[in-house]
Amino acid sequence: MSPRLRHLTTLEHLPRETIERLLDRAEALRDACAHGTRKLDVLAGRTVLNLFFEPSTRTRTSFELAARRLGADVINFDIGFSSTSKGEELFDTLHTLEAMHLDAIIVRHKHSGTPDELVRHAMSGVSVINAGDGNRAHPTQGLLDALTIRQHRPDFDNLTVVICGDIRHSRVARSDIHAFSTLGIKQIRLCGPTPLMPTAEEFPHCRHYDDFDAAIDGADAVIMLRLQKERMASIDLPDEAAYFAHYGLDQRRLARAAKGCLVMHPGPINRGIEIAPDVADGAQSRILEQVGNGVFVRMAVLNEVLAR
Ligand code: ASP
Repeated sequence: MSPRLRHLTTLEHLPRETIERLLDRAEALRDACAHGTRKLDVLAGRTVLNLFFEPSTRTRTSFELAARRLGADVINFDIGFSSTSKGEELFDTLHTLEAMHLDAIIVRHKHSGTPDELVRHAMSGVSVINAGDGNRAHPTQGLLDALTIRQHRPDFDNLTVVICGDIRHSRVARSDIHAFSTLGIKQIRLCGPTPLMPTAEEFPHCRHYDDFDAAIDGADAVIMLRLQKERMASIDLPDEAAYFAHYGLDQRRLARAAKGCLVMHPGPINRGIEIAPDVADGAQSRILEQVGNGVFVRMAVLNEVLAR
């Protein structure tokens, strides 16, 4: 059996067995807590800190819910009202909080690599979970996307998945690609305008497209990404209408995909820019299901790193 994780900062290089164990546990915990209506006490007496240096709706809330459903205590550290905003160094903040006896730190930061820095500086016995760092990794999103696809299409060795939009700045795309590749998804297609695409060397096993009509042809799942302007330096982008015309998901394009193609998006969605409202809310949309799965996946991760 692959060893239990102490931290989770990326899905890259995680064994397939570990990823499958986390997905299986997410489903088992979902059933054990009766889809969230029953609280478990697996992590009673443990304390989890949400340390978010970037805004978040889904991830922060679902980590909090996940920890509470497992019986842990949760501290939501409000950066805006903390000494970090007075210039306190990250590691001084870390050690101050650790002195209050924490078991896990869930961190989101604009700099890629911050979670690994925390792993190096954290007191032994404190687990670090990455809730998104720069454009590098968002491992729990990668897991919840894999779980959402698996629940509908477990035949991964037959599947074609398209990721479309601002892949270059997307930590979600990177963690998705790591999860899907390890789990044996047959074909991963990446599509977007050249300035928003990763280099061919970064993911040589993925197919690269700049024509969305060609990329979505026969696809079994399509993951749409937001333009992450906060992470772009100076990129010359088409205006929003032109972007939607070339890279937006509308009903006409969706009809080119395989029947029942899953429509996914990590959120927040920008209606009319990367996805048409009737597709986001349509029968093939799995977007809210992704959100629901996020809680169970985060319960599985907390359980993995913290259960005694
Ligand atoms: N919520 C995701 C993230 O934090 C995707 C996004 O922001 O577009 O990376």
